[in-house]
Amino acid sequence: MAQQETDQLVNDGFVVDTEDCEERERAHRERGTSRPITVVGNPVLHKECRDVTEFDDELAALIDDMFASQRTAEGVGLAANQIGVDLKVFIYDCPDDEGVRHVGAVCNPVLEELAPEQRVLDDSNEGCLSVPTAYASLARPDYAVVRGQDAEGKPIRVRGTGYFARCLQHETDHLYGRLYIDRLSKRERKDALRQMAEGAPRYPVVPND
Ligand SMILES: [Zn+2]
Repeated sequence: MAQQETDQLVNDGFVVDTEDCEERERAHRERGTSRPITVVGNPVLHKECRDVTEFDDELAALIDDMFASQRTAEGVGLAANQIGVDLKVFIYDCPDDEGVRHVGAVCNPVLEELAPEQRVLDDSNEGCLSVPTAYASLARPDYAVVRGQDAEGKPIRVRGTGYFARCLQHETDHLYGRLYIDRLSKRERKDALRQMAEGAPRYPVVPND
């Protein structure tokens, strides 16, 4: 506890999510069970999820299952509704713009507003496990701060740059019922859905009715 507080102080109040990444990720996924991924069209992906209010063993088990599922699908981030659970929690295992790995979980995430001088748009490619095999270029700020709670309910702030900033925004969007393709133009969205229709996911998915 004391160690954690010291770390948080030297890190400007942001959670330390870059230490023991390999061990923490492995521990989660070995306790968890991999579940199939929901895909675009499944109602659970298109509405706001419920707030997490119980920070209990059930939540811990859900997070373990999410890490197991993320590994199977080879993702860098996963929201609970992507394994069919209507709760505001996402996990990540993602490199930032310096190649530093970040591993963690955020409950009830809220994206903080950026000051205009912090809003530098990055035009990289984006994809989503729930839109299998499709990719599209999407401009997003290259810096993001999310505040929320950890698995024990303690308030946390998570800061990301580059690809990790994109991940934090993408996963927060999921929990409010928004997919990245919802941010594309009509034509680009159609193209992403065509890519998905033509491809075959390399991981188990939940069929839509
Ligand atoms: Zn996604």
